[in-house]
Amino acid sequence: MPSCPRCDAPVDDDSRYCAQCGAPQTEDAAEELDEYVQRQAEQVAGSGGGSEGGGSGGSDAFPSTEDLTDREQLWRRGSYVLGYGTVVVALTRVPAPESWPLILAGLAILPPVRRLTAEPLGSPLKREVMAGIYAVFALIGVALFALL
Ligand SMILES: [Zn+2]
Repeated sequence: MPSCPRCDAPVDDDSRYCAQCGAPQTEDAAEELDEYVQRQAEQVAGSGGGSEGGGSGGSDAFPSTEDLTDREQLWRRGSYVLGYGTVVVALTRVPAPESWPLILAGLAILPPVRRLTAEPLGSPLKREVMAGIYAVFALIGVALFALL
């Protein structure tokens, strides 16, 4: 009779899981368990996102990373990359005049800044507004760069 690799309890030849600790005993069982855990995680994430939509304004303003939908996560990551990227590029051009609006643009689009706007305004500025602010400052920077 084989024994469980995890807890050394005797396991039947044909059993897929250890009766003692539940460890999968075959490749198939391990994959099955992985898929099960994956599905459970997706279900939890899915129901979390669903309730988030109808949630109160307070929790919407400060969602934890787990509550964010894929799209929001993508936006957040993109904002960080774009924001920091712009600031880093702009810093290399200091003290040229076009560097300052570019730095402001990069800072403006960073998610923590957007969260700061929730305090005085009651709710965070819309993502489109943040993108607009970024576009305006970036355009000023590019225009200065082109003109000077
Ligand atoms: Zn076991």
